[in-house]
Amino acid sequence: MSIHILRPETAAKIAAGEVIQRPSSVVKELIENSIDAGATRIEVFLEDGGKELVKVTDDGIGIPAPEVELSVRRFATSKLETVDDLDRIRSFGFRGEALGSMAEVSEITIETQERSAATGVMLKVKAGQILERKEIVRTPGTTVSISHLFFNLPARKAFLKSEPYERRLVLEVVRNYALCFHRIRFEVRTGSKILLTYQPAADWVDRVRDVYPSLSAAELIPFEESHTRLSVRGLIVRPDQAREVERIQRIFFNSRPVLYRIVYRSVMEGFGPQPGGQPPFFILKIDSPAELLDANIHPAKTEVRYRDERFLFDFLNQLIRRTIHQQAVETMSLPPNDIDLRELYTTGEEKRQLKLPASSSEPSSEPSSTPSSPSSPSSEFPSRIASGPYSGYPSPSLSSATAKNDYGEPRFSSRDSEIRFWQLQNSYILAQIASGLVIVDQHAAHERILYEEMLERMNSNAAREPLLFPYIVELTPEEVATFEEISEALSTLGFEAKTFGPNQIIVETLPAGSRISPPDLRELFREFNSTNEVKLGNRDKMAALISCKAAVKAGRALSQAEMESLINRLFHCKTPYFCPHGRPTVIKFTMDDLAKRFGRI
Ligand code: ADP
Ligand code: MG
Repeated sequence: MSIHILRPETAAKIAAGEVIQRPSSVVKELIENSIDAGATRIEVFLEDGGKELVKVTDDGIGIPAPEVELSVRRFATSKLETVDDLDRIRSFGFRGEALGSMAEVSEITIETQERSAATGVMLKVKAGQILERKEIVRTPGTTVSISHLFFNLPARKAFLKSEPYERRLVLEVVRNYALCFHRIRFEVRTGSKILLTYQPAADWVDRVRDVYPSLSAAELIPFEESHTRLSVRGLIVRPDQAREVERIQRIFFNSRPVLYRIVYRSVMEGFGPQPGGQPPFFILKIDSPAELLDANIHPAKTEVRYRDERFLFDFLNQLIRRTIHQQAVETMSLPPNDIDLRELYTTGEEKRQLKLPASSSEPSSEPSSTPSSPSSPSSEFPSRIASGPYSGYPSPSLSSATAKNDYGEPRFSSRDSEIRFWQLQNSYILAQIASGLVIVDQHAAHERILYEEMLERMNSNAAREPLLFPYIVELTPEEVATFEEISEALSTLGFEAKTFGPNQIIVETLPAGSRISPPDLRELFREFNSTNEVKLGNRDKMAALISCKAAVKAGRALSQAEMESLINRLFHCKTPYFCPHGRPTVIKFTMDDLAKRFGRI
């Protein structure tokens, strides 16, 4: 076939297919037009998932009668005059392509009346040809109906999927706009069924809960920060509840739902490691001056690019970190004096189960029935948690002066002989806090602490602690080879060892604060050898594996002072809520949570 110029109808159809791929893209364009027109109510009606009919009705400003024909021509827009305006896009539409494209590949009917006009216009267009035009009277606003989508593009039409599938995509689109425009009422219907209704919400958070009913029980933490170049409003789920809620992530940039990898990565990093490598629920509304955002890099406008991506990344990352840290501080705030968990556990049986100290006048006594863990290297192990040189707290005892947190507020009241912590089955620490109760997984918490301390002190003298009696560890030749590859990296973390004989290494220093028994060391080298990231020199991964072996084990009895130190240090961590593998370290039960569970509210 020789080269020839496409016939205009063919070119128009091809171009239309770029903007309109399926019913959900029709809905997207029509909703955007309605929002641009200042609508407060938007109703979507579907037949056959929108394949047969998509009808969107709004109460916006309407289209002036003489301009209705123009609106369905390609590149007809009331929103952009010159190329320079492209830098200052404030409305959703600006290409003037949507209605024109739809008119090429479907039958489109527009019924519209301006707010100030006595009559309106009905216009019907099919494949670019006007079929009918007449005067009508209707309530002010616009209804656009798109029927028989792709009737003249059979290949495209064949590409559409089942009714439930197309319907689901449409609902997803409507939800996105509903999340962004909480004051607008949205409704979607099919036949006589109402698929969703969102009433106008006074507050954004209310709309978010309407859209995601599964979040109903979860506590959402709002945050907000403004700068001349960027302002952000967001919601994250309370970190200790992250596991229980749907992992939903939504990013809106200048009120457009977008996919933006940098934003996603920045939030993810702010959260710290997560189970499954996916951040928990978050919703972000980012706004910037229009000229700093390129919204025109994708025909469907689902991708945008901010001018200074480094700034964007840091701004968000720090905001998320601060929000989580602030939450941690609140979690550990002083309890009201009159609530005392001990009163709940007065019977002997429950006392034994909880391993509560027999008398509250001996705060640091350990229950005599507690067997010491057989896997622990030395009996003084747990006290190292509290008294290690980098514990961050000088061996706090309960009668010591009130410890202050980062913000200079007292962490715990230090009334003498007050029991502040309970150890459950020698594995979990229970602490009363202002808003209720926290349960800390002692192993996961200590892992997190050691991990952060190790990475923070990397390369410094403070990183290492010599072993009084160096350990000799038997390894396989393969494990020795792996060790030799990573020994330099290990040494920067404070873990120094040398090969010693063909199948042995001698461990001379451990990362400060760490205690690892010889059997655990052997296991550790096995893990180094079987973890590709470690072999590739990933120090985070090395630190995570070391801290897992060095952290206090479940089944170890801890004194009051040790528990206090552990919890204080945990809440000094950057990412206190998760261990380096992404497991939770803390679960919080607020008084509200409890009241709900007990059916009080
Ligand atoms: P764009 O939105 O990029 O301008 P469209 O093809 O989507 O292009 O719409 C063309 C024009 O039709 C718009 O600029 C606007 O003037 C008018 N229009 C479309 N939909 C509506 C509506 N629901 N209410 C009022 N005016 C509308
Ligand atoms: Mg438009």
